Amino acid sequence: MSGGSIDAQMSAEWNGVLNGLREEVGEAAFQSWLKPMTVREIANGMARVSVPTRFMKDWVVAHYADRLAELWSAANAAIKQVEIFVQADYGQSEGGVAAKTRAAASPSAPAVKPVQTARSAGQTPTAFRPVVDGGSDISAPLDMRYTFDNFVVGKPNEFAYAAAKRVAESATAQFNPLFLYGGVGLGKTHLMHAIAWKIREQDPARTVIYMSAEKFMYRFIRALREQNTVDFKEQFRNVDVLMIDDVQFISGKDSTQEEFFHTFNALVDQGRQIVISADKSPSDLEGIEERLKSRLNCGLVADIHATTYELRLGILQSKAERTGVTVPQKVMEFLAHKITSNVRELEGALNRVAAQASLVGRAITLETAQEVLHDLIRAHDRRVTIEEIQKKVAAHFNIRTSDMHSARRARSVARPRQVAMYLAKQLTSRSLPEIGRKFGGRDHTTVMHAVKKVEELRESDATFAEDVELLRRMLEG
Ligand code: ADP
Ligand code: MG
Repeated sequence: MSGGSIDAQMSAEWNGVLNGLREEVGEAAFQSWLKPMTVREIANGMARVSVPTRFMKDWVVAHYADRLAELWSAANAAIKQVEIFVQADYGQSEGGVAAKTRAAASPSAPAVKPVQTARSAGQTPTAFRPVVDGGSDISAPLDMRYTFDNFVVGKPNEFAYAAAKRVAESATAQFNPLFLYGGVGLGKTHLMHAIAWKIREQDPARTVIYMSAEKFMYRFIRALREQNTVDFKEQFRNVDVLMIDDVQFISGKDSTQEEFFHTFNALVDQGRQIVISADKSPSDLEGIEERLKSRLNCGLVADIHATTYELRLGILQSKAERTGVTVPQKVMEFLAHKITSNVRELEGALNRVAAQASLVGRAITLETAQEVLHDLIRAHDRRVTIEEIQKKVAAHFNIRTSDMHSARRARSVARPRQVAMYLAKQLTSRSLPEIGRKFGGRDHTTVMHAVKKVEELRESDATFAEDVELLRRMLEG
């Protein structure tokens, strides 16, 4: 408890803040969540506090961080921001104030900064996410948890994983571009960050830019407005690896696409590595120019499929291990069985179960898990299948269910079939190609057309709109 920039006064101040919180949250929560915190560094108005596990971090951020920051800056106006991050070696300081340490996950010890990018709703507040700078002025921060080591490999993602690993480990451009695609929450961003971490670890001299397509666009637009597109281009000129996440975002944004296309070509020509992610394959991306699509298709296209039961179980086991929570096998099987949508939701479910158990100070059991996830599981159980939709729609329009798969084109069967495709798109998380396959192996463009057609008809034909609404309500139950 000595040295560094954190002196005795700071220590007293911290204890004061903690005691304030202790009074507000009670002894049990204090012992579980607040006591393990360690102040690591205070600089430029930012206090950095570590907790031993990721799980703890999530919980503290979600429940106490705001109040902690409030109390702290009330005690010391110089503290403007508090960042919670994970560092496993607490204990040496008995939950007190530690000496100033270089807090980082890897030996290359990059500086830690709060996140500046907006994240999707439902995530932890951005100011408190443990991230580090991407290594370049314009690169977005990288999440410390998103490494190859923390990525669980299974059938659905082994190809994407292998490709990402290969790109990260090669000194020269491998497949250009590497195009990763898959549904939401399946690990695209995780893999991209992992590539960046790996490259940094192996060769810190290589510059890597990671950013979302959205950010690319905003920066480009700003450059246009401020008339310094030359500077904008310059920023990308010397980059060794450029990674653009969620490229579907620039669908229909023509001038951004144009700029991206040029940046892309210039870098590929110089043999620099490009990694792209999207929610669809290049060919399925809508609103993207053909020439860009064909360039995107030129390298290696790797998709991440929906999770399997085995992968979900593997992820749960790995996560429980890493966070040091004891979760009975039965509970993990239950979660892997019930939470099938994506990895993000799966992680959320495990966090909830663990948090509950920790709060009431009891071990996790199947019963408590069921209870805690009650609402979530109901929502999942209610999820309709395409088969159900086909059956209900066929019955409603008085046609045979087999006509949903048949090649018959008569209006009397084609229209109900389109309605069923439309409802499948609305009520399930299946992709257009998947839906097409379930309807007698039809092409995804047929499904797209059906969706459009039904939308049009709903606008123009009130009776039809009512029919569709009725069916939807019936299916949603
Ligand atoms: P996407 O970018 O595809 O929407 P993310 O990369 O953000 O998905 O992943 C969502 C969450 O799930 C992240 O917390 C990520 O670490 C986790 N995740 C996804 N796939 C895996 C995996 N195979 N192993 C471990 N964690 C995973
Ligand atoms: Mg993502």
